[in-house]
Amino acid sequence: MKVIVMGAGIIGVSTAWYLLERGHEVTVVDRQPDAALETSFANGAQISVSFCEPWANAQAPFKVAKWLLRDDSPLLFRPRLEWAQWRWGLSFLAQCNDAAFERNVGQLVALGRYSHESLKALVAQTGIDYHRQTRGILHFFSSQQDLDGAGIGAELMRRHGVDRRVLSRDEVLQVEPALRGFAGPLAGGTYTPTDESGDARVFTQALARRCQQRGATFLYEHDVLGLGVAGGAVESVRVGNQLDGRKTALKADAFVAAMGSFTAPLLRPLGVSLNIYPAKGYSATLKLKAPERASRVSLIDDSRKIAISRLGDEVRIAGTAELAGYDTSLASATSRRRCAALVQRYEELFPGVADTSEPNFWAGLRPSTPSNIPVIGRSRIANLWVNAGHGTLGWTHGAGSGRALAELMSGVRPALEFGFYGERRAAGQPHVAAAA
Ligand SMILES: Cc1cc2nc3c(=O)[nH]c(=O)nc-3n(C[C@H](O)[C@H](O)[C@H](O)COP(=O)(O)OP(=O)(O)OC[C@H]3O[C@@H](n4cnc5c(N)ncnc54)[C@H](O)[C@@H]3O)c2cc1C
Repeated sequence: MKVIVMGAGIIGVSTAWYLLERGHEVTVVDRQPDAALETSFANGAQISVSFCEPWANAQAPFKVAKWLLRDDSPLLFRPRLEWAQWRWGLSFLAQCNDAAFERNVGQLVALGRYSHESLKALVAQTGIDYHRQTRGILHFFSSQQDLDGAGIGAELMRRHGVDRRVLSRDEVLQVEPALRGFAGPLAGGTYTPTDESGDARVFTQALARRCQQRGATFLYEHDVLGLGVAGGAVESVRVGNQLDGRKTALKADAFVAAMGSFTAPLLRPLGVSLNIYPAKGYSATLKLKAPERASRVSLIDDSRKIAISRLGDEVRIAGTAELAGYDTSLASATSRRRCAALVQRYEELFPGVADTSEPNFWAGLRPSTPSNIPVIGRSRIANLWVNAGHGTLGWTHGAGSGRALAELMSGVRPALEFGFYGERRAAGQPHVAAAA
């Protein structure tokens, strides 16, 4: 088939790669001058198969109510006159119960495993170097009460076959000796040795080059303007070339929408309704002054809900979420405060280890679904496929999502227990997937 993939983030590029593997002819369209320049650019870098619990759980409504509108809260909700935001919020509340949480965790673990296997095979095949660290993820806690809660979470994950260990304070320091310099409270942690970290942008751009070498066409600096539908199928995608202003209709046999948070508004006029809403997050990337004293295990600091990952001679600190529309600017007082808080916390944890004088700040929009389960599969328009809504885990689930969609498009059922988009429709049942 001739396939057009819209979006060159980690999801679109992975999809392109696996479509090429299956012998399809691939064109990728993106508005940026290179791959991975939007949400896949400077994320938390964690391949977090085992720390994959969705935000929606039975306690979340109480926490969110406490945090509501508080400028320094990990999750900030700024109400807008926007149906998409309220729809998302109401669906999120509907996911906040034990049964939905357990079901969602099962799906996220399944996709995470499949994706991790896919990523490892892809790296072995291509030799892509992306500051990969295979030392696990360590989640550390300041208070005994929070650590006790984490023990319950670890037990639940073990039921899903995830090796998550509860560690005492001393064991935490054995796993990551760099935390010895931290003078604040440290009660203990949980550790998943098989998780990893690495730079999503470096990986995605390298994979895009390999796709080009295998014959894929990349149309960068081209805006996707809309889709032309005729006779119940997508006939073409209208694109605008930013360099010469020309608008063209590109034809293909099949189309993949992988434009992160922008997928939902693009498909809405076609009657394809996706409950994907942007959750803005921030990161700071710092040069290391004393790499020998910097952490190498990827970390989650529970008290601030931030991830810390070593990327070569730099460190990335990422976190926080704002449900406040599509704005990615760093200029507002809230953004500046949130960015500064990332650097300040790193300095508290690892005094004098990084150069905090010239941080590289960034903001990106997690394409979030209420359940955190992505939308992967066929839309109600037969030749229009969706790979979007990867929320907090798009890097973790990137390779697997790309592979699974390429398999589905090639008539192969991917080997994992997962509710693919459109499957119920195909079986004559209404689609009630948590994500859509
Ligand atoms: C602060 C933060 C920390 C994170 N940490 C982690 C982590 O540690 N681990 C993890 O697994 N995940 C993490 N994530 C999530 C992860 O980064 C995302 O889920 C993932 O990047 C989404 O990839 P994507 O390809 O769907 O979207 P994107 O990378 O945004 O790609 C979409 C592409 O579509 C293009 N596009 C959009 N609209 C148009 C249009 N109209 N015309 C042309 N092109 C268009 C964009 O240019 C873009 O290149 C984090 C996210 C944030 C914000």
